[in-house]
Amino acid sequence: MKRWLGLLLIGAVTTLQAQTKITVIKAGHLIDTESGKVLDNQVILIENDTIRSVGPNLAIPRNATIIDLSKATVLPGLVDCHTHITGQPGGDYYADIFRKTPVDFAVTAHVYAKRTLEAGFTTIRDVGAPAFVDVALRNAINNGEVAGPRMVCATLFIGSTGSHGDLNGFSPFLEFHYPEQMSGVANGIEGVRKQVRYNVKYGADVIKFGASAGVLTEEESVGAPQYTQEEMNAIVDEARTWGRKTCAHAHGAEAIKMAVKAGVASVEHGSFLDDEGIELMKTKGTFLVADIYNDDYIMSEYAKLGYPQKIIEKERLVGRTQRENFAKAVKAGVKIAYGTDAGVYPHGWNGKQFFYMVKYGLSPMQAIQSATSNAAELLGWQERIGSISAGKLADIIAVSADPLKDIRVLEKIQFVMKGGLVIKNETVQ
Ligand SMILES: [Zn+2]
Repeated sequence: MKRWLGLLLIGAVTTLQAQTKITVIKAGHLIDTESGKVLDNQVILIENDTIRSVGPNLAIPRNATIIDLSKATVLPGLVDCHTHITGQPGGDYYADIFRKTPVDFAVTAHVYAKRTLEAGFTTIRDVGAPAFVDVALRNAINNGEVAGPRMVCATLFIGSTGSHGDLNGFSPFLEFHYPEQMSGVANGIEGVRKQVRYNVKYGADVIKFGASAGVLTEEESVGAPQYTQEEMNAIVDEARTWGRKTCAHAHGAEAIKMAVKAGVASVEHGSFLDDEGIELMKTKGTFLVADIYNDDYIMSEYAKLGYPQKIIEKERLVGRTQRENFAKAVKAGVKIAYGTDAGVYPHGWNGKQFFYMVKYGLSPMQAIQSATSNAAELLGWQERIGSISAGKLADIIAVSADPLKDIRVLEKIQFVMKGGLVIKNETVQ
């Protein structure tokens, strides 16, 4: 018996050794997001899916696969903290709402996931999807069945009756039939607590709720609060009980402050953020995740896509103000994490927002940090991702030109590795 066990053990060790894959990346320039510096001629030693060591003069093991990026700038895989990976405008507003079912979204979600990954975004926080399509996609990606980024899922957007999370602007006789609670519409302290539990039960990694009205729905206001302070407090408290962080969709100044007081980890959009809100966010260490690129896309494309004029007028109110208030928040030192609302515009264009973040006040290095080390902190994944350093997952990207000189370089990533696997390599060797 003992001898068998010994043989089995030897077998297991041999298999383990055979499975250890060593990869070495020779990086011409490496953006160290932890120190905010660029390091030249670095060697990155990767064992299976994990970075083992990084340095200028590492001994290269004989059995290593070598990837030569000595002419490129190498940086950690990017993180988009605000996506809706399960959909994007299909060209007909009413068809998107009334002719599609969650099955339609499920069928195409993997296409968007692949585009996002190939754009260099190796992790996303997906903040609102129908019918747990996001959870199914996350699981399929984690099982290696589908190509896509690592996903932190919010599942159902939690919103009050008539809110941004509800269907508005139509006859009260028009009704969708969801299984109980699958609309995400919840009211009152008990109601919102129950909804948080339901979301967690079916796979939510993070909780998202609507603190204020929104732009791309037909309720009257853009920024008015849509939950009471007590309801917001209850959502954050319940999420915390289950070990989940919370993020709040919030445009209006009052709703932002209410959400921050409730203890959210991040404010999404933050369009009408005022000085008091800025101070509050600084005190509480709340992240601002402001989608400051997509206004351009909405204003140029949404009329053609059949969106009602009412919605486009709302965006006109929000767009410029949001950018100005983002600049104010940056100046004041509010923590910024990169989030684009991909799905409002085509997936795979996630990198376009870098240019706007630099235009409105971040240095190129800070913009990169917002999508790497800062984003990792917001997700609570700082031990796993966000920098190229020993012990972290080998999520690594590279570009031929220097993104610190021209941030737009990040709109087209030439090399993508996720968990030690090369997803694409178009670098000049
Ligand atoms: Zn969103």
